[in-house]
Amino acid sequence: MAGMDTIRNLFRIGMGPSSSHTLAPKRAAKIYKQRFPKGPYKVILYGSIAATGVGHQTHEAIESELGKVEFDSRPEQVLEYHPNALEFHSLSVGEASKWVVYSTGGGALSTGASDQSKTLYTKSTMNEILTWAVEEGKPLWMLVTEHEDKEIFDFLKEVWVSMKEALKRGLHTEGVLPGGLKLPRKAPNLFAKSKQLSKNHRRTALLSAYALAVSEENAAGGIVVTAPTCGASGVLPGVLYYMDVHQKYSQDKILYALATAGVIGNLIKTNASISGAEVGCQGEVGTACAMAAAACAQLLGGTPPQIEYAAEMGMEHHLGLTCDPVEGLVQIPCIERNAMAAIRALEIAEYAILSDGTHHISFDQVIETMARTGNDIPSLYRETALGGLAQTSRLYKAQEHEQNPYPFI
Ligand code: SF4
Repeated sequence: MAGMDTIRNLFRIGMGPSSSHTLAPKRAAKIYKQRFPKGPYKVILYGSIAATGVGHQTHEAIESELGKVEFDSRPEQVLEYHPNALEFHSLSVGEASKWVVYSTGGGALSTGASDQSKTLYTKSTMNEILTWAVEEGKPLWMLVTEHEDKEIFDFLKEVWVSMKEALKRGLHTEGVLPGGLKLPRKAPNLFAKSKQLSKNHRRTALLSAYALAVSEENAAGGIVVTAPTCGASGVLPGVLYYMDVHQKYSQDKILYALATAGVIGNLIKTNASISGAEVGCQGEVGTACAMAAAACAQLLGGTPPQIEYAAEMGMEHHLGLTCDPVEGLVQIPCIERNAMAAIRALEIAEYAILSDGTHHISFDQVIETMARTGNDIPSLYRETALGGLAQTSRLYKAQEHEQNPYPFI
């Protein structure tokens, strides 16, 4: 096994609504412009990024760097290396300017298999990490201090500040999200209602409001942090903000939890995928839930095996989750899915620390299962907006409400 990349490449601060469809294409366009400053430009989109590029605002992201671009979308053509492929051309230079780049999830770019061997971390399985933690007597988050540079906690502080800024903006911004669904923002309303609820119900309202706030900011094209992607960016900040404000954990404890969440996300990114186009939503919201559950278990005083158990359950109970965004927008089911995963992450953490950390299926095994399941999921359910809820919504729209099951709405 090759080792793992820095967690700096997991937590990326950038513009929503999609790390693979806006954040990475914008970065690719910027890199391309440095190499070929002279347009006009043509960009060919292949596979999943072509199928959902319009809803995910890919064209706008690329044009924000290159100016007016001639686009050619080929959703039916999937290149071998990854389902999200972009081919850049400078028409004034010709064939020599062709650059094929892949958006591999969470804002990452790759030009092919050869540049995947980033080995900042010497360990790349949970088994190795747990062995290290037990033998050294160290907490999981210290793996980060042992492998990253000494500024890593300054970076994580910057990440935490960005997460909180997105959350607070989302909590206080009312209105309708962009795109044809005319979806109203819900976070401010839930937050207001939370103040009138009893303690038990307040927790659900607050966790939902916080996760929705970030996800709605993301859907509106605001600045968020990939955790591990833009589409799943509400789960981890939602849960950590709850633990910060309502459970009064110190900033240091929150940053250590963020470091552990980074290790969990990195293990999944390294051994499976965090790309919805590659493995469905289990790789996005499933990963976010595993990261948040592990972070919470650590905050609640969990041992390394209990934290591992929390991460395992966070992913296990999202196995097989498809990606089927209605109208190709990162809104339905994405936004509420973040809220549900945030609630679940905290409950999983509480469950895990009730145990002694022993369990049957390991986190490494669940990652392996997720990768295999993702491979088996038909492309209809991997960020193409062709199947699932996206299909149902199209069918009902086509019938022009003739068979609307809720005619009173
Ligand atoms: S369904 Fe999940 S994977 Fe698909 S766009 Fe939404 S958040 Fe991303």
